[in-house]
Amino acid sequence: MKNLNNSSDTVTFLGTAGARFMVSRQLAASGGLWMNLNDTEILVDPGPGSIVQSTGRKLNAERLSAIVLSHRHLDHAADVNVMIEAMTNGGFNRHGLLFAPADALEKEPVVFSYLKDYLEGIVVLEGGKTYTAGNITFTTSVRHVHPVETYGMVFQASRHTLAYIADTRYFEDLYHSYNSEIIIINMVLTEPRPPIDHLAIPDAERIIREIKPRVAILSHFGLHVWEAKPRLIAEDLSRKTGVKVIAARDGMKFDLTQLDGT
Ligand SMILES: [Zn+2]
Repeated sequence: MKNLNNSSDTVTFLGTAGARFMVSRQLAASGGLWMNLNDTEILVDPGPGSIVQSTGRKLNAERLSAIVLSHRHLDHAADVNVMIEAMTNGGFNRHGLLFAPADALEKEPVVFSYLKDYLEGIVVLEGGKTYTAGNITFTTSVRHVHPVETYGMVFQASRHTLAYIADTRYFEDLYHSYNSEIIIINMVLTEPRPPIDHLAIPDAERIIREIKPRVAILSHFGLHVWEAKPRLIAEDLSRKTGVKVIAARDGMKFDLTQLDGT
């Protein structure tokens, strides 16, 4: 029996850029989230450069048990094919799961058909369902309000819960899906700009007040957020909400065990 008490639970930010201009100019990286929870490693939303960011940080894709896509947009899925090749050692070590919403896989699949055989399986994500990859269990949110089918997730680590609030417009029921100790918020905008379906700073504040997590981590920054300095925005939100708010940085490795015993 594995001693989970000694396992470390971490999430490494392989990028903090969100949306078109930040990503196409690579003002920040866009490689997704590399999670190591309960001794299982998974990669969430491998955007452009995920292979460069992960290899550069000595993260070994062959150790991955799964790749998870919240949705099919380029900044979340561009490197999914090369990461499947890396996970499976070019197809010579057939293993690992791919989780993705149906519309990332059906009409115009984001995954090349020849790579599907390299995988142990493909699991279609639906809203409000629980899934397992290795020792990791996660539950999807309700469907987000975003131009393509999108879900965030709550991951169950050995002693903590970690929510990933993927791209969406703010809506009343959003926070019900994300009751969690740690929340990662994809905050692209400084101000809501309808009809753009992305979260802005006031939305993040509302979500933090609604969920009252122990830590909120802001990421996936659009150009205006970047120019306003995410660190300053996080400090301001901390003051306003009384919750510890952190701005993610490229390469930041957040250790969930820092919440132990506090
Ligand atoms: Zn998107």
